[in-house]
Amino acid sequence: MAGSLAQPGRAGGRLAPAAAGAGAGAVRRISIFGATGSIGESTLDLLARDPGAWQVVALTGRENVGRLAALARAFGAELAVTADPAREGELRDRLADSGVEAAAGPAALLEAAERPADVTVAAIVGAAGLAPGFRALAQGGRLALANKESLVAAGPLLLAEAARHGATILPVDSEHSAVFQALAGEDMGAVERIVITASGGPFRTWPAARLAAATVAEAAAHPNWSMGRRISIDSASLFNKALELIEAREFFGIAPERLEVVVHPQSIVHALVGFSDGALIAHLGAPDMRHAIGYALNWPRRRPLPVRRLDLAALGTLAFEAPDEARFPALRLARAVMATGGLAGAAFNAAKEIALDGFIAGRLRFPAMAALVEATLDRLSAGGGLTIAPSRLDDVLAMDHLARQTAAAIVQAGRI
Ligand code: NDP
Repeated sequence: MAGSLAQPGRAGGRLAPAAAGAGAGAVRRISIFGATGSIGESTLDLLARDPGAWQVVALTGRENVGRLAALARAFGAELAVTADPAREGELRDRLADSGVEAAAGPAALLEAAERPADVTVAAIVGAAGLAPGFRALAQGGRLALANKESLVAAGPLLLAEAARHGATILPVDSEHSAVFQALAGEDMGAVERIVITASGGPFRTWPAARLAAATVAEAAAHPNWSMGRRISIDSASLFNKALELIEAREFFGIAPERLEVVVHPQSIVHALVGFSDGALIAHLGAPDMRHAIGYALNWPRRRPLPVRRLDLAALGTLAFEAPDEARFPALRLARAVMATGGLAGAAFNAAKEIALDGFIAGRLRFPAMAALVEATLDRLSAGGGLTIAPSRLDDVLAMDHLARQTAAAIVQAGRI
């Protein structure tokens, strides 16, 4: 088990003292970064069902200032922050006479991360979520990590920072929460493999030729999960699963060759852990992020959650198939990134974000996203800079910036 990821099934070991009161009647302080998004709203839904259990400290968003102000008022937050400085005036106006402080901009996000909280939910989308989550670790509390991009770009640094401050990181990604739960009470030395499932997305059965004409609306229409637009499109391209492979490597400290992806179109089995005695322990549940979020909030206890219970007889069968890396090269690229190590994860994620922006804006066709990421990594690896292990967050942010510039230049030159 790497860094300061909480130890499954070993309550007390690395559990932050403040969090030990979970469910025991103590009011816990919570901040949610990305409160206006899909994960943020699901988290707030759980808080609303547990009146008196939580004090909301900071809520953050970016564009959706109206929703941010409404949530901050409804939950009696101490502070609301929009990441966009241009929206500060609007946020202040909307929060006038509410008693909620308003602030804006990247520095305000970092200050919000310093406000004492027992639990910080990292649910900003993209590399923009890295710095606030990193800053929150200095409090030594619990980081419920949905922002997988943080671990992909800066896994070792994030885990070292958590260890330095005695903070606990718990996975919110459903597959990683499932692995974490399957590992409860187990010895990592007995783990042979970790298998995470992929729905295959809306294009699972599409022939390669048809993918070139895929629209943004088609790509964003996930068959099972209701999620933000960006992660939904990443699911269609399997870039989301590629990020999750790297995330699993960092979270569980497992060698890449012991990590597998299997396509499971029903999204009922979220992950499986294989042990040295041949046992394969699976985690099953309805596709509802409130399960993984609630588990991260309540750990090490289990508390009732408002998720649909499975009717196995009604399900009948569970289907599995191998991923097709020819049509969806993202998994192959993730394996190359893991083999390279160093700053390759930061470059991979940044190039992927530029590719996604290009697809959403209509500049790139669907298959060109993977081509652009690969071309960016090729260009950056020629300079040898990808293998360098970052020693501080600024190294990661510099590579993120360079990879974005490189990817944008490749698009501009019409090479994709
Ligand atoms: P959404 O797009 O629904 O929400 C993103 C949130 O981040 C919003 O609050 C948004 O504010 C805010 N935001 C966007 N850009 C920035 C920025 N540059 N700076 C600061 N804040 C910003 O995303 P999801 O909730 O779907 O995903 C959030 C994270 O959780 C991602 O890392 C994703 O990979 C991960 N995740 C999500 C799952 C899901 O089911 N949705 C499942 C597993 C992981 P606003 O909307 O106001 O602009």
